[in-house]
Amino acid sequence: MNKLKVFDRKKTNRIYVGQVPIGNNAPIAIQSMTNSKTEDYLATIKQIADLENVGADIVRVSIPTVEAVESFKKIKQSVKIPLIADIHFDYRLALKSIKYGADCLRINPGNIGNKKRVLAIVNAAKISNIPIRIGVNSGSLEKDILKKYGTPTADALVESAMNHVEYFDFLNFYNFKISVKASNIFLAVEAYKKLSKKTSQPLHIGITEAGSLRTGTIKSAIGLAHLLLHGIGDTIRVSLAADPIEEVKVAYDILKILGLRSRGINFIACPTCSRQEFDVINTVNTLEKNLEDISTPMDVSIIGCIVNGIGEAKTSTLGLTGGHKKSAIYKYGIRKKEQIKNVDIIKKMEENIRKTAKELDRLKKNNIQST
Ligand code: SF4
Repeated sequence: MNKLKVFDRKKTNRIYVGQVPIGNNAPIAIQSMTNSKTEDYLATIKQIADLENVGADIVRVSIPTVEAVESFKKIKQSVKIPLIADIHFDYRLALKSIKYGADCLRINPGNIGNKKRVLAIVNAAKISNIPIRIGVNSGSLEKDILKKYGTPTADALVESAMNHVEYFDFLNFYNFKISVKASNIFLAVEAYKKLSKKTSQPLHIGITEAGSLRTGTIKSAIGLAHLLLHGIGDTIRVSLAADPIEEVKVAYDILKILGLRSRGINFIACPTCSRQEFDVINTVNTLEKNLEDISTPMDVSIIGCIVNGIGEAKTSTLGLTGGHKKSAIYKYGIRKKEQIKNVDIIKKMEENIRKTAKELDRLKKNNIQST
C-alpha cells in the first residue's frame, strides 16, 4: 500500500494499558466499548471476545452499579484483552474496579466529585500501577466551567481537562491520557489541537456520539482523519449507534487508509459501468464478508475491465481484471498464466486470497525468526 508520509506524529509520553503501549509513536491503539449490560457477565464476556476477534486492542466496560463492578471482577478473570473501567459519579466504583484488576480507568472530571475523591483514585492507581484517562465530554462539563463559557467551547473542554492535568501533576501522577470529545467535529478538532499544544500526555481521540453507522462513520472519518493528519492521537475510538464490532472495523479502515495501521484486506474495487465484464459489486461485497477472518494485511483489486484493471492489479498483492468470459489474475503484480472463468470468480478469488494470506504469514514468521 502506498503510505501517506506527509505528516509526523506528535511525540507524546508512553503509558501502557495492560500490555498495550500508548503514545511515543506506538501503533495507534483501537478501542471499543461493550454495550451489553455489564451485570450480565456472560453476555459481556462474549462481546469482548467478539471485539477481540475483529482486532480491538483494548475494550472499555461501563461500571454504573455495585452489581456491575462485581460482574466486572468475573469478566476480568475470563478475558485476556486489557479492560478499561468506565466510571461516572461514584468514585467508590473506581476503587473497586482497580481492586478487581482494571487495566485502566476512565473518569469524567465533570462528574467524579471533589479533589479528595480524585486523590483516592489516583493513590489506588499508583499502587496498582495502572493509568487513568481524563475523559472530558462536551455533554457533561463541570457546572462552573459551563457558567464561565456559557456553552461548551473548545477552551471550556481544554480548561476542564487541564484542571485535572494540573492536579495530577501536583500529585506527581503522570500515568494518564486525556480526551476532549464533542459530537461537533469542529469543536472536537479545535479542542484536541489546543490540548495537544498544552500537554505531552497521550491523547485518546474520538468524535463522541457520532451517530448511526453511515453518518457516524463519515463524521468520525472526517474529524479523526483531520487530527491524525496533524499527528494528533495515540488511541482511537469510533463512537457509533451500531454494533461495537462496526466501531472497530471503521477505526481500522480510517487508520488503514491513512497508512497508520494495517490489518486484513484492503479491497480496491471500481464503481462499475457498462464495460464491466462480471458483477463487481456482488463479488467485492461477498468476498469482503467471506474473508472477514483474514487479518493478514494485503491489497486486493477487483476491477471490472481492462481500462483500470491492469494498472490496479500491478500495484496490488492480488488483482483481478475483468475480461470476456474469463478474467486475468495478478499476484504480486505479475499476471498469472491461467485465467479464471467469470462464473467462478468468487470461489477462485477466495481460494487465492486465503492461500496468499498463509504465504505472507509464513514469510513474516520466517523473517521474525531470522532477525
Ligand atoms: Fe467501468 Fe472498467 Fe472503469 Fe470499472 S474499470 S468503472 S468496468 S471502465
